[in-house]
Amino acid sequence: MDFAISPAETLASARLTIDLGALAANWRTMRERSGRAEAGAVVKANAYGVGTGPAVRALAAAGCRTFFVASFDEAQAARDAAPKAVVYLLNGLLPGSAADLSALDLRPVLGSLDEVAEWAAWRRRTNRGAAAIHIDTGMNRLGLTPDEARALAADRDLIAEIGPSLLMSHLASADIAGSTTSARQLALFRELRRLFPGVPASLANSAGIMLGPDYHFELTRPGIMLYGAIASPELPPLLPVATAEGRILLVRDVPAGEAVGYGGEQTMVRASRIATIGAGYADGYHRVAGSSDRRPGGRVAIRGGIAPLVGRVSMDLMTADVTDLPDVGRGDWVELFGPTIPVDEAAAVAGTIGYEFLTGLGRRYHRRYVGA
Ligand SMILES: *Cc1c(COP(=O)(O)O)cnc(C)c1O
Repeated sequence: MDFAISPAETLASARLTIDLGALAANWRTMRERSGRAEAGAVVKANAYGVGTGPAVRALAAAGCRTFFVASFDEAQAARDAAPKAVVYLLNGLLPGSAADLSALDLRPVLGSLDEVAEWAAWRRRTNRGAAAIHIDTGMNRLGLTPDEARALAADRDLIAEIGPSLLMSHLASADIAGSTTSARQLALFRELRRLFPGVPASLANSAGIMLGPDYHFELTRPGIMLYGAIASPELPPLLPVATAEGRILLVRDVPAGEAVGYGGEQTMVRASRIATIGAGYADGYHRVAGSSDRRPGGRVAIRGGIAPLVGRVSMDLMTADVTDLPDVGRGDWVELFGPTIPVDEAAAVAGTIGYEFLTGLGRRYHRRYVGA
């Protein structure tokens, strides 16, 4: 789904710049890291907030042939953008949805024996469509249990009816340094995939790709790293893709001793110049990233300088201390996150992760796509 409403830039209090060239470059980086495996792309949740249609077109142009989405509307958007691509629905087969999926040549990732049975019935009737089988190797969320997978593998007729095009599982802790969970999941997945000879396999998300070739199998499923998040010293250099900015509506002088914003949570310790910025939690910048006398909040970047937020983040507004940035004024764009303030940093101040900041971007941004 693309956001239908994108206000004109001159009329927008907030804007989002999506660098599709950076997205394609990050995908090429992950493809190299995937070694001999094919690199797919996960474009669920409106392509992690950046826009399914533009993201899929850019990735397909870069050579990506396989896309993963969560829901049907996302799958439709991916199909529109890439008519020939393979599109998998990670949320699987909802009751009665096989005909709609097949009409658009979308592939469900079958996550339970009920889904397997319903898909097999559809295939018996129509002989149409392909599907993946998801095996749960330790996340206890989606997928057949190992015992269910063993029973299914023994039923050659049922396997033939399903016509599986992919066998997949998902890592629970690939991004947690020192975790032994991934190795356990890998061992189990290896054992189970031997029961499905000839079916390509896929295990690794972004962090899983970084665990090395053992995890790559035939197809990898990078998501977050395509969008430039969870960068760390061990990871390849990734380019920021989304830059979120708010516009300065006005700059005012606030005397020492006065408080700023709802609840008066932060009192100025010096005479200050405070910029009021036209973006807030309704735009996905979490309220808890605000600042108080007890705890500093997030930082924003303006005209090459850095300004700390002051006071609470409200629905449509946030306030930043620009006392030390004398050139800053009305109409200036302020980076909330992007090349200067990494999305992971902004998210960490809010006690969350880059995934949530990106997918929580609101609908009010003027969206512009560059680098295609
Ligand atoms: C979201 C998701 C991915 C991508 O994960 P990242 O951590 O964003 O790379 C891969 N596989 C499955 C099943 C997912 O749900």
